[in-house]
Amino acid sequence: MNLLILGPQASGKGTQAKRIAKELGIPHISTGDIFRDNIERGTDLGKKVLMIQGGELVPDELTNSIVKNRLKQEDCANGYILDGYPRNLVQAEYLNSISQIDAVIDLEVPTKVIMERITSRRACGDCKADYNIIYMKPKQEGICDKCEGELIQRKDDTPGPIKKRLDIYYSQTQPLISFYKEQGVSLKEIDGVGTPGEILDRIMNVLR
Ligand code: AMP
Repeated sequence: MNLLILGPQASGKGTQAKRIAKELGIPHISTGDIFRDNIERGTDLGKKVLMIQGGELVPDELTNSIVKNRLKQEDCANGYILDGYPRNLVQAEYLNSISQIDAVIDLEVPTKVIMERITSRRACGDCKADYNIIYMKPKQEGICDKCEGELIQRKDDTPGPIKKRLDIYYSQTQPLISFYKEQGVSLKEIDGVGTPGEILDRIMNVLR
């Protein structure tokens, strides 16, 4: 099954995409994770995508070529879940030219909840596990439950970049819902308010 998950920043997309990938035995492909990992390792790609820290999008051509190469890998043969891609019409049309999407999951979360969640979001600096210091607390403050790594706040989860990222989401990414509807792709609209387990159950119920 080739899936993609849409939803504004801090809608729980990354958390759910990882869990869906595990349930279905398919890879979770997050363009944001790929860019952050390359920045951390100081690769050539990492040097080209530093603009993400200010909330700017990476140019389409570069993003598209990374996704194309990733989808060619063997682990994608039985499906994948894309998280954070496509982010605009140019990318969605490109994706259509290289693969076929079976279903789109749209995580719906009111803006008020997004704003509450986004500033309290944290991730493990080592294993990248997601946390939220209000809704998804680690057992020990500031420490990852899984690997004891330090929990950090993303550079782009701060007020200036957050505003830019949400503006981009509502103006460029959300319109993709109509794009896929018009194409007749199965659209799964999911209430994204609740515990991660409740939301995963809603998603798996509609996918099965
Ligand atoms: P995310 O982890 O999905 O929130 O992505 C973090 C940042 O990486 C975004 O704010 C963008 O700067 C960049 N990024 C991720 N995916 C894309 C994409 N498909 N196109 C362009 N930039 C992206």
